[in-house]
Amino acid sequence: MTAAHTDRELAEPTLRGWLGTVGLDVEYVRAEGNTIYRLAEDGSEVAVLDLAGGYGSLLLGHNHPTVVARAQELLAAGTPIHAQFSRHPYANDVANRLNRIIRRELGEDEAFATIFANTGAEAIEAAIKHAELERGFRARDLLAGIEANLATTVTSVAPSAYEKAGSVPEEGLAGLLTAIAAHNAAVAARPPVFVTLEGGFHGKLAGSVQLTHNADYRTPFSALAAQARFVPLDQPGAVKDMVDGERASVLDIVVEGGEVRVVEHDFPLIAAFVVEPIQGEGGIRVVSAELAAEIQEAAASVGAPVVVDEIQSGMGRSGAFLASTLIGLRGDYYTLAKSLGGGVAKASVLLVRESRYRPEFELVHSSTFAKDAFSCHIASTVLELLESEDGRAYRKAAELGERLTAVLEGVRADYPDVVVDVRGKGLMLGLEFAAQDTATSEAIRVNAPFLGYAIAGYLLQAHDIRTFPTASAVTTLRFEPSVLLTEEEIGRLDRALRGAAEILRTQPEHGFTA
Ligand code: PMP
Repeated sequence: MTAAHTDRELAEPTLRGWLGTVGLDVEYVRAEGNTIYRLAEDGSEVAVLDLAGGYGSLLLGHNHPTVVARAQELLAAGTPIHAQFSRHPYANDVANRLNRIIRRELGEDEAFATIFANTGAEAIEAAIKHAELERGFRARDLLAGIEANLATTVTSVAPSAYEKAGSVPEEGLAGLLTAIAAHNAAVAARPPVFVTLEGGFHGKLAGSVQLTHNADYRTPFSALAAQARFVPLDQPGAVKDMVDGERASVLDIVVEGGEVRVVEHDFPLIAAFVVEPIQGEGGIRVVSAELAAEIQEAAASVGAPVVVDEIQSGMGRSGAFLASTLIGLRGDYYTLAKSLGGGVAKASVLLVRESRYRPEFELVHSSTFAKDAFSCHIASTVLELLESEDGRAYRKAAELGERLTAVLEGVRADYPDVVVDVRGKGLMLGLEFAAQDTATSEAIRVNAPFLGYAIAGYLLQAHDIRTFPTASAVTTLRFEPSVLLTEEEIGRLDRALRGAAEILRTQPEHGFTA
């Protein structure tokens, strides 16, 4: 029995109420391809062009027939979906397919061990944990070597050694060794540092949200996890400066000419560099090849892994399977999610280069739902679809992206007063509008703090088009349609965006509402 009429609004009621204020609280009841149907007041279905693309999970569109058929087949066959601690050939199939694609794009032979998870943020959490495990082993090896040296029998101490260790000659060798041990223990106790980018988004769980730049999401939870350092995207040399500012060293002894001297070793304080090759929630910003090279170099200089977050940009959306290959960024870890589940399953993976992989990780990280048969079989089907016809989907994403970019550029060219930028690659595009804090229309000015949502409400109500601003840059609207996008759909978007731009230009009293 349902009690739809008497039920209170309890499922995130605040958000629901807020969506209503900008005309976005509609109910969707059916979807196929790039079309999602909303329920009208009279109970009929209204077709809406969906360019939000599940925020990136729908590269193949809603309910792709091959994916749906596979899901139905799996359920009809009574496939055991949860069979933890058994052989998982279907997971291995996903891992191998991903490896073949990634090795082809990177032009390398090294394999990637694959850890399964359910969501994007969870794959990032796995990456954070693996990087910390790796750092722990490196730190332990370093400290164990030092400890063995400290046990060496020595008789005389070089005068400079006391100063370097912060001890006094009167306390002799014993005091020196105590000071070294105390210094090293203090350095080893420092929490790990993650280096990431301003504007970056890596999820909202306790660890991953600390890598997400948006202060509203991050700062209330800062006490829960290791902190990130955020590097600006457009300042050459900023990565190196950041790394130089995060150096720490431990002390060691060497015996030279019968005398003890104190030397320093770099301590691995930085656990990882975490980067989206195309920032999604930060406003669809493509990281430059120069910045990618700086990150690569800085990571190598401290021996930390580069974690490439391809959760939104990956799976072919950019025109390549990995958007990072387009900017020459080579990852040690990759995270993938969203379209991996084909819009039907929830699946994510963390891929780790075999040379860095710590097998111990598998004993300390797991999830009830990860690596389940259903999502793995679906992921294999998705990868097969992407790779079919010699990678037609990637070519489509690139071609349609160019076509869509031309249309967005056209809108910008005709409305330079209200449209300030077009960004992105393939089917991951953004259109930035001019801020409206000083708009002459009060209705528009009131909505200025969440401008993109007000425009999204207009596109939905007046043009039956669904899209949203990016989460951390709300003057940028995102366009992440599927590879099924048609010329007619692109034309509809063109007209709708011109309608929005015209409203911003003419500043009617009623704002975006008719
Ligand atoms: N990383 C990136 C780049 C993302 O775009 C997102 C989601 N927008 C996440 C991580 C988090 O994924 P999820 O919402 O599945 O936790």
